[in-house]
Amino acid sequence: MGNSLEGTVALVTGASSGIGAATARRLAQEGASVALVARRADRLAEVVSAIESEGGTAQAIASDITTRAAAHDAVEQAVAAFGRLDTVVNNAGAMLVGPFADAPDGEWERMVDINLMGLLYVTKAALPHLIKAAEQDPRRTADLVNISSSAGRVARPGTAVYNLTKFGVNGFSEALRQEMQSLRVRVSVIEPGNVDTELASHTREELRAGVEAQTQAIERLQPEDIADAVAYIVTSNRRVAVNEVFVRAADQTW
Ligand code: NDP
Repeated sequence: MGNSLEGTVALVTGASSGIGAATARRLAQEGASVALVARRADRLAEVVSAIESEGGTAQAIASDITTRAAAHDAVEQAVAAFGRLDTVVNNAGAMLVGPFADAPDGEWERMVDINLMGLLYVTKAALPHLIKAAEQDPRRTADLVNISSSAGRVARPGTAVYNLTKFGVNGFSEALRQEMQSLRVRVSVIEPGNVDTELASHTREELRAGVEAQTQAIERLQPEDIADAVAYIVTSNRRVAVNEVFVRAADQTW
């Protein structure tokens, strides 16, 4: 059994739906006070209510983290609310599927802005707090967990720019892991396979049926399956660093 997160504070980006919402809920069940960051305030409020109804502590922070100032402000709001920061889950992301050359203006930018720049801005703002938590916390450790993808390991036609962002997240996570090691801020990366969330619904309508057809035959992972992986990482004893977790749906070949 892992360490309790009682008395610690977690921040989860993209907590208004899917993997982020399930992760926020799970970290609250483990005892953390949780700051939930995303743009849709109404959806965040629903997740906060669900956490509170289970006896947990949570706060919604409505923010678009694709600008440096907003990401910094979201992290500072979490620290102001709960006084510290021990765990950050960089989960917010977008996947807009389609052949590279046909993508309308703005699609690559949306993925780069949230999957890469949002993740970098939140990380930069959070690191001083995580370093402090690792120095002072009775657990003497802090965690940064980046949600990459199987698309960060396996490139396929139709997801070139998504692959670019998620391969990027993997490289960044490994370099940062080494930079933070001596400070006891553990940096981990999770690569989920196909998970049943809203992610594919943002793909252009004319391509959506094709995306769904590709995954129809497999039993998809549930967001809670990825929340389990996050919980395993962040509740591990400080002598343990789970650097990378690749979780595919059991039916998934790619
Ligand atoms: P969802 O679409 O359900 O979740 C995406 C989350 O990101 C939402 O909460 C959304 O909130 C948030 N978000 C998007 N843009 C912004 C922004 N500009 N600022 C703040 N928050 C933002 O999909 P998933 O739960 O599936 O995705 C979560 C992560 O998991 C992503 O990084 C995705 O790439 C990754 N992943 C998903 C897989 C899957 O099969 N589903 C497989 C592998 C990885 P809001 O719209 O309210 O801002």
